[in-house]
Amino acid sequence: MSSTKDIDALIDMMAKLPGLGPRSARRAVLHLIRKRALLLTPLADMMQTVAATARECLNCGNIGTADICDICQSNKRQNGELCVVEDVADLWAMERSGVFKGRYHVLGGTLNALDSVGPEDLRIPRIRDRVEAEDVKEVILALNATVDGQTTAHYIADMLEGQVQLSSLAQGVPIGGELDYLDDGTITAAMRARKSVS
Ligand SMILES: [Zn+2]
Repeated sequence: MSSTKDIDALIDMMAKLPGLGPRSARRAVLHLIRKRALLLTPLADMMQTVAATARECLNCGNIGTADICDICQSNKRQNGELCVVEDVADLWAMERSGVFKGRYHVLGGTLNALDSVGPEDLRIPRIRDRVEAEDVKEVILALNATVDGQTTAHYIADMLEGQVQLSSLAQGVPIGGELDYLDDGTITAAMRARKSVS
């Protein structure tokens, strides 16, 4: 049996991370082992902690370490605006820009007939409950400019028609672009110039 079996297994595991291939994974693991006290041991501890505590917010789908996330717990964030995003990465991108002061609703994907992803799979029905429970006046559909993203936006707009003001991010979000890849200035501009959906 190879004396590097455990290390090889770690490299294989790291290579599965987004943005890392086998080559970067090998470099990262080598670096970690060389910085055992400074990086590897603390990282292993942190991973264990996060593995035990990370969870989805029961209200909005954000990821944190409590059943209800900080944003949903803060009364200041209940300002009548609810921003619907596809993924937690989009929520985090929006928070980094600091442009939005309301609350979020993370769908966890988009409607997709081919993969039989329906509204029930995506926390879509919950949006209606939240509009009532949290006194939402405006729902901002900040979905990606992909075909599936826009299909999902139309579905939600139809569902909520007549109940709240509906708006979507202004031009500036590139076609097929994901919010997470936009710089803060572009997100801010797209949010400020949001337009109403009828
Ligand atoms: Zn939340």
